[in-house]
Amino acid sequence: MAEKAPGTLRPVTAVVAVVCGVLGLAVGSFLNVVIYRVPRKESVVRPRSHCPNCGTQLAERDNIPVVSWLLLRGRCRTCGEPISARYPLVELATAALFVAVGLRFGADWAVPGFLLFFASLLAISLIDLEHYIIPNRIVYPTLFGGFALLALAAALDDNWKALERAAIGAAVFWVILLVIHLVSPRGMGFGDVRLSAVLGLFLGWLGLRYVGLGFFLGFFLGAVVGLALLILRRRGRKDHIPFGPFLAAGAVLAVLAGSPILAWYQPR
Ligand SMILES: [Zn+2]
Repeated sequence: MAEKAPGTLRPVTAVVAVVCGVLGLAVGSFLNVVIYRVPRKESVVRPRSHCPNCGTQLAERDNIPVVSWLLLRGRCRTCGEPISARYPLVELATAALFVAVGLRFGADWAVPGFLLFFASLLAISLIDLEHYIIPNRIVYPTLFGGFALLALAAALDDNWKALERAAIGAAVFWVILLVIHLVSPRGMGFGDVRLSAVLGLFLGWLGLRYVGLGFFLGFFLGAVVGLALLILRRRGRKDHIPFGPFLAAGAVLAVLAGSPILAWYQPR
């Protein structure tokens, strides 16, 4: 992966970022469905989106990401019940993550894989925060779909070394979290162990140092927030704090900011 000079934005990269952002709004809209229905074991395809209060199906014009929510001023057109601001926020967050992937990679065959990665991490984090589960229905498609997309990128770029690193990264991250899970099953659930294979896959694609950095950032963020909640007495020592969102945030940070962090840590 060619290092780009800081502060210069190539036109092709800007185009990729804009396309990713628009795609992100649409994908964010789908993630809202995933985040609501997957923990409830409902289909993500049928039925079409409906108001959780009155059950009216959303018309096309009321299903435009962010815009519809703003036009309706956050209320259902039929019954007037408030619609959570979480819906447009998830759409905006997805768009922001996608733009960041576009800016980070530019015209690179690995972009589709990393878009899938970030979309899944957002859905997994929000579900884990609310329900304390990391659904297999998201983790497995991301792992196998992600591997397929990265294998395609490796073939198109003739970059099999990166795919090899990705496979090693997945195995290493998985084994480390498995050991932590076996030592402390209550602190680290098996959902986190499964998720770690996905994290290791994508971080390994960038380089094995990124796997270490993502692992460190995830645990660092988890420790800082856990300690802060303990000090603020928002949570007792025995309360469960879901770990998935911290692992996800650590991985996102490692992907987006890993290159300057590693350069700072290991100056050449
Ligand atoms: Zn309604």
